[in-house]
Amino acid sequence: MITRTPKEATVETGRALWQLELGSGIRGVGELLQRLDLRPEQVGWTDESVAAADYFPLRVPTSFIDRMRPGDPADPLLLQVLPVGDEMLPTPGWSLDPLAEAPASPVPGLLHKYCGRVLLITTGACAVHCRYCFRRHFPYAEHRVSDPDFDAALDYVAADPTIREVILSGGDPLSLPDTKLARLTKRLEGIAHVERLRIHTRLPVVLPTRVDEALLTWLTSTRLRPVIVLHVNHGNEIDAEFAAWSRRLLSAGVPLLNQAVFLRGINDSVEAQRDLSERLFSTHVMPYYLHILDRVEGAAHFAVEEETARGLIRSLSQQLPGYLVPRLVREDAGALAKTLICP
Ligand SMILES: *Cc1c(COP(=O)(O)O)cnc(C)c1O
Ligand code: SF4
Repeated sequence: MITRTPKEATVETGRALWQLELGSGIRGVGELLQRLDLRPEQVGWTDESVAAADYFPLRVPTSFIDRMRPGDPADPLLLQVLPVGDEMLPTPGWSLDPLAEAPASPVPGLLHKYCGRVLLITTGACAVHCRYCFRRHFPYAEHRVSDPDFDAALDYVAADPTIREVILSGGDPLSLPDTKLARLTKRLEGIAHVERLRIHTRLPVVLPTRVDEALLTWLTSTRLRPVIVLHVNHGNEIDAEFAAWSRRLLSAGVPLLNQAVFLRGINDSVEAQRDLSERLFSTHVMPYYLHILDRVEGAAHFAVEEETARGLIRSLSQQLPGYLVPRLVREDAGALAKTLICP
């Protein structure tokens, strides 16, 4: 086996910098804690935490770790990625597949729940493993959509003229190489009734180098109107680098929205939500949705009661202009849209 330095790999394989960084994210809890000057006992490390890390492995890019506060076991970014023993507690009523999406999937890899838009599961991979995510139970290898599945999905979109918008989701669609994304987009462009291309992604947030020339070229060379919906949960995720890439996307004509999840101990205060909205706006991102946590097994310790969340958003509405207050929503199986709780 030949060992290559990252630079050589870039030259020889034609891989972009972000792809190398994606591959070199931190996967060991020991290394994460060491980088943050934390001892295992400070984060309550137990045998159960080990089991949690075995079940859904730690994965986090170093650029995200750089935004965590060293020495703080309650850091809101750390809590989103650190495996903890609570994940292994039994929680009756919380399921492996809380959204029960199978009935909304007419062909593999495509969800058609709402009028006028379909969602494509382009990949199971993500740059970061968020502990509260329902993907924690996703058998990544089995569910990866292969190209024949895309054929079926594209045929489905082509056959239904009411579909105006295609949402690339996953996993994280931006974990795919630009060449693959461009190929998929070309085929969508060939379907006359598709007008909008929406991308649901957390990748640039955790790996800022993802926003490079190749991505901007792809986004500006399609006739489809692009819109990116980011996933940022806490104001500390937004730094100067974030501001730089979001400005580039805005300059390329790509509107930026944000969806967050209400998470106990992370963003369940009026101050945290106000700070998040203000920092999003200062970096050209409009708050869009704030989701009540899906009832996924292993995530119950993150849950915020709906009544508490509602009260918090009411207070937020009294402190911010309406356009900076995200819509608090819940996902109900069979509903024709997300259920608006507040405002
Ligand atoms: C959330 C979601 C959408 C998008 O809903 P919007 O209200 O348009 O943001 C589309 N399809 C599925 C399956 C979804 O879960
Ligand atoms: S799908 Fe989104 S929330 Fe889930 S692990 Fe990937 S980046 Fe995190």
